Amino acid sequence: MMKNIIQHLKNSRRALLASHVNPDGDAIGSLLAMGIVLESLGCEVNLYNESSIPAVYRFLPSVDRIQKQLCDPERFDTAVVLDCGDLSRVGVEAKRVGAIPVVINIDHHITNTRFGQHQLVDVNACATCEIIYRLVQAMGLDVDTAMATAIYTGILSDTGSFRFSNTNRTAFAICEAMVARGVDPSSVARHVYGTYSLGRIKLLNLALDSIEISNNGYLSIMTVTREMFAETGTQSEDADGLINYARRIQDVKVAALIHELENGVNSQDSRKRFHVSLRSDGSVDVARIASGFGGGGHAGAAGFSMESSLPELKRIIYGLSDGISEKCHLN
Ligand code: 5GP
Ligand code: MN
Ligand code: MN
Repeated sequence: MMKNIIQHLKNSRRALLASHVNPDGDAIGSLLAMGIVLESLGCEVNLYNESSIPAVYRFLPSVDRIQKQLCDPERFDTAVVLDCGDLSRVGVEAKRVGAIPVVINIDHHITNTRFGQHQLVDVNACATCEIIYRLVQAMGLDVDTAMATAIYTGILSDTGSFRFSNTNRTAFAICEAMVARGVDPSSVARHVYGTYSLGRIKLLNLALDSIEISNNGYLSIMTVTREMFAETGTQSEDADGLINYARRIQDVKVAALIHELENGVNSQDSRKRFHVSLRSDGSVDVARIASGFGGGGHAGAAGFSMESSLPELKRIIYGLSDGISEKCHLN
């Protein structure tokens, strides 16, 4: 499978590389690293992501090459879609990306729909960046410091700094190799975790204050609204990672972060657009829960989007707590 993909990449002349909306470190790292891979093969490369790149990832080498506009998709012979469980995760341009003659799906989500003509999907990979590194090794390519920084950052952020259940031996082995290629771990950590705006810290305060717990104590809900973003002068990207606080609470097995999105349905309607992030302590499969709402993800970290009023959405999420008990176990 990897062989066929390498063969195809070697013959590709013009490739579009895309990753998921509201990108995390893995979506951005895999996009940048794969861009370097294809360019070293002499392919013309365009990097696409519909969202703005969060400030904490703007230190990555060549990050400015990622474009928010998809221009002339007809001119590409290949699309490489990275860190997306399904094609719609690319965003509004998903259909036009999917119409590029050959779509290569490189991902690690358990809910991956196997879209595209070629798939390189490994649900046991800690990050899409792990799969990219394996591809680089199979091709015998050199890893320069720019690629190493992208891959290291992807693995660091997707494993929650080597704390989440996807943290495997390979995560450490690859990161060790990336440090050997010139990555400075403290510098990456300072950019990713140590450069928060004051507004982001104030948003954290409001978000912590919003935490509620279900009657049985197994489910926590944290809420961030448009008013909170406005009050603190922050944006959606500043909500990244907040859910980890809701998950840390003793006895909590599932944490939900309700994130009100921009462009609510319309002003007369009490319904709004929300993204719900779910995290579990490892005993509940939240990818299954998210799939039930049209989303997806990993067993321990998943999400979905929904139009609803806030009280109705909370009622739905509280309803999930009935299915969570002391006896929950995931193998
Ligand atoms: P987050 O809650 O941080 O947005 O996402 C957690 C995980 O679930 C990530 O790996 C993310 O890619 C995935 N995810 C989040 N929202 C969706 C969604 O709507 N659909 C799918 N397929 N995956 C999602
Ligand atoms: Mn991701
Ligand atoms: Mn990922």
